[in-house]
Amino acid sequence: MDKVVGILGGGQLGRMLAQAASLLNIDVVILDVGENAPAKQAVSPRSANLAHVDGSFTDPAKIRELAAKVDVMTVEIEHVEAGVLQEVANAIPLGVHPNPSTIRIIQDKFIQKQHLAAHGAPVSTFVEVESTFASVAAAAEKLGLPLMLKSRTLAYDGRGNYVVRDLAQAQKAIDALGGRPLYAEKWVPFVKEIAVMVVRSATGEVASYPVVETVHRDNICHLVFAPLRTRAVNIAARARGIAEAAVSSFEGAGVFGVEMFLMEDGSVFVNEIAPRPHNSGHYTIEACETSQYENHLRAILSLPLGSTALKVPSAAMLNLLGASSDMSEIRTIATHALTIPGASVHLYAKSECRKGRKMGHITITASSDAERSARIRPLLEHIPSPSA
Ligand code: ATP
Ligand code: MG
Ligand code: MG
Repeated sequence: MDKVVGILGGGQLGRMLAQAASLLNIDVVILDVGENAPAKQAVSPRSANLAHVDGSFTDPAKIRELAAKVDVMTVEIEHVEAGVLQEVANAIPLGVHPNPSTIRIIQDKFIQKQHLAAHGAPVSTFVEVESTFASVAAAAEKLGLPLMLKSRTLAYDGRGNYVVRDLAQAQKAIDALGGRPLYAEKWVPFVKEIAVMVVRSATGEVASYPVVETVHRDNICHLVFAPLRTRAVNIAARARGIAEAAVSSFEGAGVFGVEMFLMEDGSVFVNEIAPRPHNSGHYTIEACETSQYENHLRAILSLPLGSTALKVPSAAMLNLLGASSDMSEIRTIATHALTIPGASVHLYAKSECRKGRKMGHITITASSDAERSARIRPLLEHIPSPSA
């Protein structure tokens, strides 16, 4: 396609973007620390000018170095320097996607929630909180207990969250969140967590993928089931509508992951939005007409978007999380998966395994939910019980 895409971040999302890019003969240049980042291992530069950049995706000099090489720049992580992206955007032929202004809003979860509320998205009540007991107490007065105390910035895998069940825990919660700016959310007693990937073209057209159920363990995504099954009517259409409207309120092209809570009465709240490919959309590689990664590339390069429809009746995705520094359990599960029809193994080539670290995933496709359950069951038997 004769275009060069620059990606800030070289983790598994960048790796799967690079894999999708290679199918379309799109060159990819990665900015991240080290030569062995998962995404860098997936593509070798075809010329010196396209060599990957070694440095932090938060380093302004390195971002400028990447900008000079590419036709369009995108991110696999929202914790980047939005100010520098804004500065380099005009010098890049197709700019930065999604817009740096979008990344700036989303990377501060409190500002993101304000933005979503202002654009009519259903969100749980939330308030700004200072890192003091009195401020948490005032939030509890307004929101009730338990409440979810959240770090506004740099959060992932629930690491910026603390459930305050009792005000006696307030100081411990503030200390645990390490002096970062905070806000509080009213507790949402959801029955399921669901997610929708939405792709937004450069001209602002949006299309959504099917609604999926996400199952979390210890705050980390453990399983994804596609499509969502519920007895209640219209939930999927409504959730997709809410997700599309929320993404329409942001500027710039690309895919967005919309995490939502489904309530007993069938209502839906938006939890948070990721301005990039998302864990809940890995299944699209094998289960949809066009993967989230390919559609992200098509969107940022102003190419025609691909169909978001499922091409199999049923799919599931199992994250392979490190149990310790030892990778042997992951290898055992991955090897077992190779014997299961419809199972596709993705290993991310991370040099170190750690407890809770995303090391790979397995997608299962099947002709029915029953077949999907039968195919995934032997893999789940290998997964240790949750620690909590
Ligand atoms: P991610 O890895 O998805 O970026 P994160 O660190 O940004 O996660 P959140 O998505 O805000 O964290 O929250 C993590 C999990 O905590 C949610 O998936 C949900 O299970 C739970 N959670 C978050 N907010 C609330 C809430 N207000 N009420 C109840 N549970 C919540
Ligand atoms: Mg998050
Ligand atoms: Mg989340």
